[in-house]
Amino acid sequence: MSQRTRHILSLSGGKDSTALAVYMRNRVPEMEYVFCDTQKELPETYEYLERLQVYLGKPIHRLNAERGFDHWIEIFGGYLPSARMRWCTKLLKIKPFEQFVGEEPVFSYIGIRADEEREGYISTKPNITPVYPFKEDGIVEADVYRILEESGLGLPKYYEWRTRSGCYFCFFQRRAEWVGLLERHPELFEKAKQYEKIEIDRGIRYTWTDHESLAELEKPERIREIKEKHRKQIQQLGKSVPGNKLYQIFGAALDEEDDTEPCLICHL
Ligand code: SF4
Repeated sequence: MSQRTRHILSLSGGKDSTALAVYMRNRVPEMEYVFCDTQKELPETYEYLERLQVYLGKPIHRLNAERGFDHWIEIFGGYLPSARMRWCTKLLKIKPFEQFVGEEPVFSYIGIRADEEREGYISTKPNITPVYPFKEDGIVEADVYRILEESGLGLPKYYEWRTRSGCYFCFFQRRAEWVGLLERHPELFEKAKQYEKIEIDRGIRYTWTDHESLAELEKPERIREIKEKHRKQIQQLGKSVPGNKLYQIFGAALDEEDDTEPCLICHL
């Protein structure tokens, strides 16, 4: 008897994977939806996933790593993950996903759009076949916004101040987004600050952003500076972003600061 092939769509809480779930709802009724939950995600992400679950009429499986972030940070001696050392993605997102997949043949649906160059996370597991419906069907960013709007879900609420999903302390955040976290969720900003470690005499400097600790970033004069820079970028870009939608301009202004490609499984 031939083995059945499962269909799995991994959600990040971001706009593209959510739009893909909406897009696929009636196309692949047997789809399984998963979310790799680091338990350090933003409250807005959990709220968005709850609403998506109602829309899909199906459970979104929450996948947790056996050991969470606080366990691993201890193992790494307080060394924070970074764009160069993405141990959190591997241990807290990819591993639980692969465990859920197991050994059966699986189609893994990935929300990379037709207007994007980047490659998705492609598991080295031979039983996982990636599928890119947006690429195949020519779906571009404007379509994603339309799909979300028409579904009634809209964008996740964190889009008011941040464009990337993921952990509240994610090192892929740009400085203006850290200010957003401080203003919207001061208690989470404080928690993120507690993970930083600076011991000058021992040559230790573990901070979430390069060359600046959160204690330095939260100083009123520094916040004013960051906001001013961000405001100017928005102003400059306002005329040049096609469509001129506020969230597009906001996102483009953030990309001006740092366009490092974040992890797809976390941020798509
Ligand atoms: S969202 Fe950021 S901090 Fe969280 S697991 Fe992904 S890369 Fe790491």
